[in-house]
Amino acid sequence: MKRIDMFLKTVSACLLLSAHCAFGQNASIPEVHGIAVDNIERSVRPGDDFYRFANGNWIKRVEIPPDRAVMNVWTKLDDLSSQRTADLIKDLATSNPPAGSNLRKVADLFNSYMDEAAIEAKGLTSVKPHLDAIAAIRDRKQLAHALGETLRADVDALNNTNYHTPNLFGLWVAPGFNDSDHYTPYLMQGGLQLPDREYYTSNSESMQKVLAKYQPHVAAMLKLAGFSDADARAARILELETAIAKTHRTLAENEDIHKANNTWGRAEFAAKAPGLDWDEYFKGAGLSRVASFIVWQPEAFQGESALVASSPLESWKDWLAFHLIEAHAGVLPKVFAAERFAFFGKELSGVQQQRPRWERGVSVVNGYLGDPVGQVYAQKYFPPEAKEKAQKMVAELIAAFRKRIEALTWMNPSTKAEAEAKLSTLYVGIGYPETWHDYLNYEVKPDDIFGNIWRGDLSEYRRQVARLGKAVDRKEWSMTPQTVNAVNLPLQNALNFPAAILQPPFYDPAAPAAVNYGAIGSVIGHEISHTFDTEGSAFDSKGRVRNWWTPEDLKHFEAATAKLAAQYDTYKPFPDLAVNGKQTLGESIADLAGLSAAYDGYKASGQVAPPVDGFSSDQQFFVSFAQNWGENVREATLRQLVMTDGHPPGEYRADTVRNIDAWYSTFEVKPGEKLYLAPEERVRIW
Ligand SMILES: [Zn+2]
Repeated sequence: MKRIDMFLKTVSACLLLSAHCAFGQNASIPEVHGIAVDNIERSVRPGDDFYRFANGNWIKRVEIPPDRAVMNVWTKLDDLSSQRTADLIKDLATSNPPAGSNLRKVADLFNSYMDEAAIEAKGLTSVKPHLDAIAAIRDRKQLAHALGETLRADVDALNNTNYHTPNLFGLWVAPGFNDSDHYTPYLMQGGLQLPDREYYTSNSESMQKVLAKYQPHVAAMLKLAGFSDADARAARILELETAIAKTHRTLAENEDIHKANNTWGRAEFAAKAPGLDWDEYFKGAGLSRVASFIVWQPEAFQGESALVASSPLESWKDWLAFHLIEAHAGVLPKVFAAERFAFFGKELSGVQQQRPRWERGVSVVNGYLGDPVGQVYAQKYFPPEAKEKAQKMVAELIAAFRKRIEALTWMNPSTKAEAEAKLSTLYVGIGYPETWHDYLNYEVKPDDIFGNIWRGDLSEYRRQVARLGKAVDRKEWSMTPQTVNAVNLPLQNALNFPAAILQPPFYDPAAPAAVNYGAIGSVIGHEISHTFDTEGSAFDSKGRVRNWWTPEDLKHFEAATAKLAAQYDTYKPFPDLAVNGKQTLGESIADLAGLSAAYDGYKASGQVAPPVDGFSSDQQFFVSFAQNWGENVREATLRQLVMTDGHPPGEYRADTVRNIDAWYSTFEVKPGEKLYLAPEERVRIW
């Protein structure tokens, strides 16, 4: 679940951005077994711009292909994983697996996605019954029922950190904030097609330009679907979405879990958020029997519910129809996908050309049947010795982290004890999960891609609803083995390191320790330290929301993290747009703590790399870290990320080094150089 390919989200919200991922990439290529010397720009002084020092020549050399929004050296690893996954899927697609088996479902799903002739021939016949049902809505009661029927398990607040759903609301089923032993329903704000409220409410020129192009896109989609008065309808839809956007919390507010911990009994919704007929809504959603929910953004529920009562019924019906078409554009005739790409790909992200259909097909299969593909992938590409080596490295990083906690002078013993309990109960999944999803209730037909997508979303929703109240499986994964990423699951006190990230150039058994600790070591440290970032530190060793801090420890932690947020607030990728230090704080803390632990782990290994092109072992460690973050990003995409992503841009992630004392001595960084911070200005947290 990477953060970039939003415009590829043609069929399901499950392919969205993530905030707890490491999103790393290393500039070395597998054949090199060490830092990528060719990428270093020696004319840049490390103390002035460490990011460009480590990556400058790569940045100049690499162009962004027309069908991409971003290039980083990590792209190469992602391509490798995609290619391998595609080969597996294509093999299955022609090998006629037994009827009813998961592998048969993989084959049928992929083949039905690839059969463009059949999709063209069908036209709108698959979507027509759903559009007719929307047209038949006569009153607000029926509207409430229809809105309830759109609810899907398509948001995920803390794991893959996806706060966005185009449906009115989104459901996330996860361990409870207040009862982490049982699965609990979380409801979250929704209703927007654009990635965030900012797109509707910002006064900045670049944002208003995007919004001005959005309305014609809405009209074009409606026209393609045969609606009359498409322009007028589009204007009303935009007006409604803008009103919805104004009720939404910002991303930085969404990340505050204390503000999100609001339990509402089902019967209380009518009084707490009047407007929407909640009984009908929950009936439509199949949730009438659920006693209570955690409502992430109460004021958005109040605002959106009131809008269901106050905005014209016809506006809501147009909104429902448009959202249905937009969500399925990728599996409707080509003109729909092309129009969607023209806006979401070109305008919103700056990409010039769609990815090839087979790549989009692989994404769809990974999204709906990721486990059976991952099972085959792990068998083929992740041998037991790779697993053993990765486990060893993770154990070393945890040990380094434990030592850092023990050595903290500002922290009281009682707080330290719980922090250490969190480390010792941490479940670390390496490579692939211990159990796999069964997909028994997911029916896939060889000639019905629209139905396959529809049923896929619905069967995942029902699987999640069926888990409510049941005991939590702490070893469950939230990423597939073929994903080049890593994740921290705070409510399970668990980490996942998929097979696809545990390979060169991230982790190269033939590279020196300095380089591996700088690259994968800092990624592992990053994920471990999410356990102790602003969000993670609110959960105890059992995954419960509990304040386990003494008041003075918490005060110190908050002061130190505020200092880090202020440091990131000064970073300005554009003259009119700065990084939001609060929005990216969890990731910045994880980067800093991860780098610190990786450095300790590297030092504890006692291994010294031979010099490479005059770079010492310690220099190789820091360069290797910074080469994780080299990237070329299209301007529109970078703007989008600065506003909607929990991660800071790669440049500032690389510059994390300026808070580490050892970096100063390693590169002889002096006062007056641009990244120089006096010792007391350097942020030290964990
Ligand atoms: Zn992260």
